[in-house]
Amino acid sequence: MYRIWVEISLDQLAANYHAVRKVVGPGVAVAPVLKADAYRHGSVEVAHRLQEEGAHWLAVSNAEEGVVLRESGIRMRILVMGDFLPPERDALVEYSLTPVIHSLERLKEYDRLAQSVDRILPCHLKIDTGMGRLGVRSTCEELRAAAASAHHLHLEGLMTHFASAADFTTAQTTDQIVLFETAAHSLGQAGIQPALRHLGSSAAVAYGIRSAFGTMVRPGLAIYGYVTPSKGDAPPTELKVRPALTWKSRLVEIKEIPEGASVGYGATWQARRRTRLGIVAAGYADGIPHAVSNRGHVIVDGYLAPIVGAVSMDLITVDLTEVPPARIGDTVILLGRAGDVKWDADDIAAAGGTISYTVLCGIGNRVKRVYT
Ligand SMILES: *Cc1c(COP(=O)(O)O)cnc(C)c1O
Repeated sequence: MYRIWVEISLDQLAANYHAVRKVVGPGVAVAPVLKADAYRHGSVEVAHRLQEEGAHWLAVSNAEEGVVLRESGIRMRILVMGDFLPPERDALVEYSLTPVIHSLERLKEYDRLAQSVDRILPCHLKIDTGMGRLGVRSTCEELRAAAASAHHLHLEGLMTHFASAADFTTAQTTDQIVLFETAAHSLGQAGIQPALRHLGSSAAVAYGIRSAFGTMVRPGLAIYGYVTPSKGDAPPTELKVRPALTWKSRLVEIKEIPEGASVGYGATWQARRRTRLGIVAAGYADGIPHAVSNRGHVIVDGYLAPIVGAVSMDLITVDLTEVPPARIGDTVILLGRAGDVKWDADDIAAAGGTISYTVLCGIGNRVKRVYT
């Protein structure tokens, strides 16, 4: 019996993967993104299930994340998307990880490394079309020249990443697609035609931005069952995904406080009536954002119960006055749904002024994982 745990449905993850495949169609590869321990769903378990489901590619952030998957027996192609530092390069080769290259100097260095081990190594090249983070910002001529002289590299992929894919009030995504196509066309004129051209992640798939599908997409969030809320005039989403993770804890104490009594650090909440409080074994050390103090909810016995007072390190306090049946030891849903009552990562993010990604990635190490 755990105090705090997540239940992860691998069947739902598999269904989400197939939902993405259905939207993009058979001509487009899907590379699920498993960085940050698969958004805390457990990268090894998620990778093995996706391998069984027939995925050919996975993407991670750094070499170490790729090594963990290889050592667990994953045979799929693994794309390492974050920049890699010189000490990580040997692991790329040793573990057959495919790097994304982010500058023309890096391309040259990786070419020399390939030459030194006497191999032709596959790699993908990232173009910075407006994200302003990783990626090459060279002219088409420089790009062509560098790619043409990397004799020991097999440039099998060309990619970019969108800054505002769910925002339909701006033309940024369209502009980024045009820049990407220009670079791809220019390389093509030099006879360099990477088979994998990938631009879009979850938002591009969810909102059906077909010109961003290329020949591969890189969904992360959608695999875990979420879609970033859109801004502006978004097309209706075609993607049918559902959250795969439910986060649970328990009521460790129930007690009554009189009208006027305060709750928690800083006494930020006062009881306006006689109040029945529940103390829940979950705090910011487990990943409950401090920002949901006095703003969040949990689900107890099918009822939404408000979080009252400040979130502390190991505990939160909730108002159970309207939840008649609650007993000590009862399960509390911190994130998930019970029947029609929902309180998921989007709701927590809205209450805490953040995004669903940080809620999922913030789930702490102390939280046990159970696969269903
Ligand atoms: C994280 C990441 C993704 C996945 O993004 P989602 O919005 O979670 O689908 C795709 N590509 C790159 C380069 C990323 O860093």
